[in-house]
Amino acid sequence: MKLEFKKILNLPKTFCFEKENLSFVGSLKKVKNNLVEIDGFIKADVILTCDRCGKEYQEKFDSEVKIFASEGLFSGDLDEIIYEFHEGYIDLSEIVYSEIESLKSDYHYCDECIEKQEICYEV
Ligand SMILES: [Zn+2]
Repeated sequence: MKLEFKKILNLPKTFCFEKENLSFVGSLKKVKNNLVEIDGFIKADVILTCDRCGKEYQEKFDSEVKIFASEGLFSGDLDEIIYEFHEGYIDLSEIVYSEIESLKSDYHYCDECIEKQEICYEV
């Protein structure tokens, strides 16, 4: 799903991106000349691999995100992650997929391992 930078205004505009088992809804607005702020919710069914036992399991990913996208290189001062786009368009699907990928790269434990861990804590 691509949106033209030129058409994004200072007033927040809602968007909705849905594909198979994921959705990304929210609003976006221009905050500076070449900078757009996106506030939204990502919901997806993702397959995660347990970092303890290696088992794959499905998890519902439900997360609020605040993302910035810039048209071209962004040279200002901002702590947040900025997605840079170079062809005049913001690609929301690219953002949503990389957000999910970054979630996957965190540590995850399946339910069984979480239970075992809880038992350990009691000792
Ligand atoms: Zn596990």
